[in-house]
Amino acid sequence: MLYVACEGESTEPDYLQYLNERFGDGDGRARQPFRIQPVYRRNGWTPSGVVEAARKAAGEDEAWALFDRDQWDDIPQAVKDAAESGIELAFSHPSFDLWLLLHFQSFGGAQSGSSKLVVEKLRQAKGADAFKDYDKRGDKSIKGARRDALKGREDKAVAHARSLVASCTHGLCKPGQAQTEPVGEDVARQSHQEWAARSGHTPDCPVLQRDPSTDVWRLLVRLGIVVREPAIAVGPQTRN
Ligand SMILES: [Zn+2]
Repeated sequence: MLYVACEGESTEPDYLQYLNERFGDGDGRARQPFRIQPVYRRNGWTPSGVVEAARKAAGEDEAWALFDRDQWDDIPQAVKDAAESGIELAFSHPSFDLWLLLHFQSFGGAQSGSSKLVVEKLRQAKGADAFKDYDKRGDKSIKGARRDALKGREDKAVAHARSLVASCTHGLCKPGQAQTEPVGEDVARQSHQEWAARSGHTPDCPVLQRDPSTDVWRLLVRLGIVVREPAIAVGPQTRN
């Protein structure tokens, strides 16, 4: 059981339920059964509110905090709080919508916090017909045909998200440096920079400058949904 608190009240909880239903029973081989408990509320939380909600809900269990770049002024505090409590960060810059888009195509270029282009690309992406009306009339749900459209594209999404770490403008960030194993007792010894470096970005790569990026891929690797180094991502020459 792990607790994943989210900023939004629709897209992220829907997506987490999808992971439960599609992958939660395990595969009878390497992947263990799991159950995600989404933690959210109507009208959402600030990022530090997400961290606090994750901490309260999870108790001694594993906790993750899922939030976007939108409410950036609160993010440094959220990262500090998460480091102190050992709550895993799944930060997306500019938004969780980027994670959805990466199921269908790669993406690059700084967005300065705006999700507009990401959403436009998602609506038009090949294979993403179900997302044609995404975020129109407030419909950001992930149900029915939208779930179906994501199916089987997890490897691709992880590979694309990892390549965004490699192409971070900081220059020294590498997906191979990312941590995906549960932390256990080591938590208290980590600074918030080290904690935020579990994403594969270096400790001195400021979180707010990881543009574009999304850490959600680490959750899928953590759960065994995708193996750590998907074969389609990199060959031996470019492995990092
Ligand atoms: Zn970086």
